[in-house]
This record gives sequence, structure tokens and C-alpha cells, in this order.
Amino acid sequence: MYEHILIPTDGSDTANVAVEHAVDLAAKYGAQLHALYVVDIDAVSFGLGTEQVDRITQGNFGEMTELQEKAERATGTVVSTAAEHDVDVHEEVRVGTPHKVIADYAEDNEVDVIVMGSHGRSGVRRALLGSVTERVLRSTHIPVFVVDERRE
Ligand code: ATP
Ligand code: MN
Repeated sequence: MYEHILIPTDGSDTANVAVEHAVDLAAKYGAQLHALYVVDIDAVSFGLGTEQVDRITQGNFGEMTELQEKAERATGTVVSTAAEHDVDVHEEVRVGTPHKVIADYAEDNEVDVIVMGSHGRSGVRRALLGSVTERVLRSTHIPVFVVDERRE
């Protein structure tokens, strides 16, 4: 049933709770785990010139090394959690609009289930779901497993 499991992560505490669920599912099903971090192009390009935005879009972060570091921290948490359970992880960092990149990645990689947090970095609790999760739900027919860290 589950051969490819996608865990999109922004490195937040809530996403990291979802990581536990994704790793456990992958271990039980012997599935390949895909850890995806999306550099939100709209969020990072604020105040930058078009040339710099183009460079970042192509994955060349230049002096903005913190973008790469943030991404590696987020997917690295998946790798270290998975290693404890003998689960294989493919790490992926992409640049774009998070929900679109997540839905496209899932379609293109035969993902059977997307596991994600109910909320993320901004942690606004007024909304039932964060905007990325809500938009992924609207953008794909692939099952989405939403983890709310308040209901571990
Ligand atoms: P909002 O972003 O709408 O202000 P939020 O940050 O609390 O609110 P979301 O961004 O929707 O909520 O985060 C929910 C989940 O979506 C996260 O737990 C994570 O699984 C995934 N996610 C969010 N942003 C990214 C991203 N840039 N790359 C990969 N996954 C992400
Ligand atoms: Mn967010």
C-alpha cells in the first residue's frame, strides 16, 4: 500500500512530530521515505532584486547560506530519526511555492501518502490548519496524513 512516503518539513516542532509518524509508517511498510524542504520563494525574495531572485530560484543561494542551513537542519532531522529505525531517506530541497512544490513532487514520485504537520513555523493557532497543509489538501488526490502535535 505504502511504498513511497513523503514528509514535507519546515523544520518546526509540529513538523518534527509528523516526522515521527512518517518514520514509523515507513518502518512498518518497508517504504522509501522522501524528506522535502521547500524554500518559500515569495517569503525569501521580499526586498531582493530580480537577478538575486532568479539565482535563488535556480537553487544558487550565494551568500544566503542560512537558507541552505535551514533546509539541511529540517531534512537532517528526518534522516537522524529514520536512521534509528533503519529507514532509507531521500533528502530533497526545492525552491518555489511550498504547496505547489509538495503536490508536484508527490505526483512525480509515485508518493502513496503525504505525512505533514497541522501547523508549522508561523504557528498561528487561530486557523484549524496552516495554509500550506490546507492548500496541499486542495491540490492533490493523494492521501494526506495530518499530524496535530497537541494530539500525539
Ligand atoms: P502559515 O504558514 O499558514 O502561516 P503554519 O506555518 O503554522 O501557518 P503551515 O506552513 O501550513 O503552517 O505548516 C504545516 C505543515 O506543512 C508543516 O508541519 C510541514 O509539514 C509543512 N510545511 C510548511 N512549510 C513547508 C515548507 N516550506 N517546506 C516543506 N514543508 C512545509
Ligand atoms: Mn508556514
